[in-house]
Amino acid sequence: MIKVVALDADDTLWHSESRFQDTQARLSEILDSHAPHDHVQAHLHELEARNIKLFGFGIKGFTLSMIEAAIEISQGGITAAEIHEIVMMGKAMLDGPMELLDGVGDTLAALALDFPLIMITKGDHMDQYNKIEKSGLAGHFKQIEVVMNKDAAAYGEIFSRHDIDPGEVVMVGNSIPSDILPILELGGHGVYIPYHVTASFERHETEPDSPRYRRLTRIQELPALLKAI
Ligand SMILES: [Mg+2]
Repeated sequence: MIKVVALDADDTLWHSESRFQDTQARLSEILDSHAPHDHVQAHLHELEARNIKLFGFGIKGFTLSMIEAAIEISQGGITAAEIHEIVMMGKAMLDGPMELLDGVGDTLAALALDFPLIMITKGDHMDQYNKIEKSGLAGHFKQIEVVMNKDAAAYGEIFSRHDIDPGEVVMVGNSIPSDILPILELGGHGVYIPYHVTASFERHETEPDSPRYRRLTRIQELPALLKAI
């Protein structure tokens, strides 16, 4: 029996990763004379994975990783003007328009009539709260939680703080490792709605084999699925 609906935000409610991919593509162009594009992407991903422990998830850390990659790939040859452009790219990402995924507003309004909704999103606090405000969706949510990392311990802490039984929760999101595996581990339900691009550190080879796991193609299918569970 589902009593609480928890939702991821980035690439579940609004577009996020596509903006990272566009910016990475521009970084490859800036470094065109130093390395092939696939080398730039691979080196950036390696640095991001290493830096997440220090910077956390988010655009500020991503921008620093881009600068580090540019200096290393160019062997110190990157110009101040090019570093300035990278910083401006990061600022444009932070300051950019918010674009909701199709059907999100109507679906959340419908779900909120039947369930308390909790947003559980990870990343830089200021960036996440700016996006939440721009989205205009906050009013649908009973709770909004911004966490550093999405693992079973982080979810367990949220549910126990709100006196929620994880077995009565469905978590909806676009990442198998961050949104689905932890809730299945806690005995709850996971609904995976893939986004068309996935960040390197959110990729997962296989889908979970569990009766509490479901996969949808779009969020508009969620109310009918929850009635069926
Ligand atoms: Mg997400």
